Amino acid sequence: MKGFNRRTVVKHLMGALSFLSIPGCTKFFTSEKSMSNMKKIIHHQKPTEQHWVGDGFFVHTMMQPHPSTYSMTSPFILMDYAPPRNFSPSSAQKGVGEHPHRGFETVTFAYQGEITHRDSAGGGGTIGQGDVQWMTAASGVVHEELHSKEYSERGGDFEMVQLWVNLPKSKKMSSPRYQGVKDKDFPRFMMGENCEGRLIAGEVDKKNGPCLTHSPINVFDLSFSRNEEISLPVGEGTNTVIFVLRGKIEIDSTNYHQKELLVFSREGQEIRIKGEAKSKILVLNGEPIDEPIFAYGPFVMNTREEIIEAINDYQSGKMGHL
Ligand code: MN
Repeated sequence: MKGFNRRTVVKHLMGALSFLSIPGCTKFFTSEKSMSNMKKIIHHQKPTEQHWVGDGFFVHTMMQPHPSTYSMTSPFILMDYAPPRNFSPSSAQKGVGEHPHRGFETVTFAYQGEITHRDSAGGGGTIGQGDVQWMTAASGVVHEELHSKEYSERGGDFEMVQLWVNLPKSKKMSSPRYQGVKDKDFPRFMMGENCEGRLIAGEVDKKNGPCLTHSPINVFDLSFSRNEEISLPVGEGTNTVIFVLRGKIEIDSTNYHQKELLVFSREGQEIRIKGEAKSKILVLNGEPIDEPIFAYGPFVMNTREEIIEAINDYQSGKMGHL
């Protein structure tokens, strides 16, 4: 027994016995094996106090660019959630006027209402219910994000998510890009019998999401039509964030509700989720970009010097104008 503790011995025995089918023992070995593959929750974020972004987005900031949390969520750096809110009809378009970005991508999910975007690189368009806009600022753009003209005049419910996705150092100064994708163009897939996914980016179930990314990323949302337990395959070494948009989910015997965000360990290859009927979650998964970050306002770079350069370039008009 010298040199082995009890656990090591059990592990060796399990390895040796794993090819045998022992009645009554199979279940034990199976569950023991799969438990060790589970990603663990390492951070649980309850909804923060809401604040206005411009006059159009009343948001909970669920993730922020900060060196202490970035390694857990990278390449995802920020998430703002504007929960359902009714806006009265208005002749003015509410939102955020002209402002710059450099070094990352802003991804906007319109769940209700419509958003119109216009940027100095020539990108632009309106996204409505279920649509997604994936805007790569990269070397720099100036843009505006407003409620669409039609939605403003009509009024009604508004709900959206804005995500900031970091770019690797090698891509931070690449050309800006705009992708606007309609709800109908996202491939659907089933997880179990009662949970339907909408694939926005990456690969799930041998299908590819239409949004192009600059590093390996899987983004999808899942809607449970009835109570069901699903197993989410997520790669070893990848970061995973789950945000509850509707209803309630249960992971490892704990319930998580609407507007709660969960961050998972890099270790492990599976997340088991019990979803309640009518629940909806957003899943963000990606290969971490393990590079230093230096974030300041609308810029996310690697060093302080690059931030100063970004401010100078914006002020001297190098990021263009609308
Ligand atoms: Mn912006």
